[in-house]
Amino acid sequence: MHRTPAWARVGPPRAPAGPRRRLGRLLPAVLALALALGACQPGSDSSTSSNGNDNTPKTLVLPQSSGNVTVLAPEPATVDFARLTVNIPEEAQSIGLTLVGSRTSYKFIDHGQLLLPEAYITGPDGNAPLAFAMIDQDGNGSEEPYAAVLYDVETVSVFFPNDGSNAPLPEGTYSFPIGAFDSTLTLIPDELQPIVYYKVAPTAQETLRLNIFVVSGVSSGITDAASAGNDPEILGAIGVLEHVFETQARLNLAVTVRFIDDSRFLIIDTFDEQDLLLKSYPDPATSDAMNIFVVGQLAHLDLALQGDVVGFAAQITGPFNLHGTIMSGTLAEYQNDEDMEVPNPGTVLGYILAHEFGHFLGLYHTSQTDPATGKIAGHDPIDDTAECPNGTMDLPTCDDRFNLMFPFVNEDPTPPITDMQGTVIRLNPAVSEPAP
Ligand SMILES: [Zn+2]
Repeated sequence: MHRTPAWARVGPPRAPAGPRRRLGRLLPAVLALALALGACQPGSDSSTSSNGNDNTPKTLVLPQSSGNVTVLAPEPATVDFARLTVNIPEEAQSIGLTLVGSRTSYKFIDHGQLLLPEAYITGPDGNAPLAFAMIDQDGNGSEEPYAAVLYDVETVSVFFPNDGSNAPLPEGTYSFPIGAFDSTLTLIPDELQPIVYYKVAPTAQETLRLNIFVVSGVSSGITDAASAGNDPEILGAIGVLEHVFETQARLNLAVTVRFIDDSRFLIIDTFDEQDLLLKSYPDPATSDAMNIFVVGQLAHLDLALQGDVVGFAAQITGPFNLHGTIMSGTLAEYQNDEDMEVPNPGTVLGYILAHEFGHFLGLYHTSQTDPATGKIAGHDPIDDTAECPNGTMDLPTCDDRFNLMFPFVNEDPTPPITDMQGTVIRLNPAVSEPAP
C-alpha cells in the first residue's frame, strides 16, 4: 500500500485547558431536576405530543425523529448540577444526550469521580456501561475507563453503547448527572436544554445525511455550489466517504455539496472564526443532514497543536443532527497545497473527511498518544481494533496504522474500519431511517 512519506497529523477534538481535574470547590448538593419523561412511540409524525398528564413536561418530537430514532426534548431548566432522568422502552438499542446552554459556561455530563463518587450515569441495571474514551489519565499505558466528566463550552454530547457492542439496552429509567461550571471550576446556574435520543432497530436501510460546505477560494475552479459539486477533488473525496460509510458501515450516504461565498472562512485563524462558521450554516437549517466544512487552512489549529493539522472534529461525539451550535460539524483542509506534495488530493481529502466524521459519530483513535510525551496514552474501547504497543509510538509496530481512526492521514482510497467500528457508527442516533 502506497502512503505519503510525510503523514499529516489529524487533530484531536478540542479539550479546554484547565478543568480536566478534580473540581474540589464544586458543591456536592444534587438538585432534583425531575425531568421525568414519558416514552414516545417511535415513528410518531406529530410535531409535539404530551405525556397525557398536564403535570409532566411535554416531549417534543423533532423532524429527525421520523424513522427509527425518537427525540425527547424537555423544557430548558436553569440548574448548576442536576439529575436528568429518562424512561427508555425495551426496544432501544442506543441512547444519546446532548446538552445545549450558553457560550459562557462549560456544560458537563458526569460519569463518576470528578464531581461526586456517586455521580454516574445510571441505567436500570446500575451504572451505565459507558465507554467515553479509554485515555489513560495517569499515563501508565494501561487501558482504563475514562470515568470522568464530558464537558465543553456551549454544547456537549454522549451516546452509548459506543464500544462496538450491539446488545439491546435494558428497559427502564436512565439518569444523567448534568450541569454547568465556569472557568474557575465552580458550579454556576445556567439554562440547559437537554435533548435525549433513543434509537430502535431499523426496518429499512439507514441513511447518513451529509452537507459538504466548500468555502469560496479553496480552488479557482470552485465558484458556486454546482462547480463545487463537480470538482474532481470533491468527487474523489465523496468516493472515499462512500467506501467507508456505504461499503463498510452499510448505510445509504446522501451527500449535498454546498458553497459558502464568504472569504473570511478560507483561512481559519481563530477559534472564534471556527465557532462562527460551525454555528452559521446552514442558515436556516433546511434538513437534518450533518455538516462538513472544507476550508483552505486550519491556521488556528496548526498554532494551537504545534503541527500541520488537516482536519478537526468539534467533539467526540458531536451533537446529533443539531445545527446552529459551535459544535455542529467537522472541518477539513482542501488539499491543493503544492508544498504538501499530495499525489491524490481528493483521496486524501476524503480520508480526512471520513476520519473526522468518524470522530463526530463517536469513534476514538485506535491508539492515542499523550502530546506531552509522545507515548501511547490509551486506545479506543472497541475490542476488534488493533493497537500500537505501549510506550513511544513507533509507526511500523502499530498494527492499527492503516485503520481509518489511526491518528495520521494516509492516501488509501479504501481506508478500513472494523465490524465493531461500523456498529458504533450505525448505533449513533444521528444515523436513522429516512423520513417516510
Ligand atoms: Zn482523529
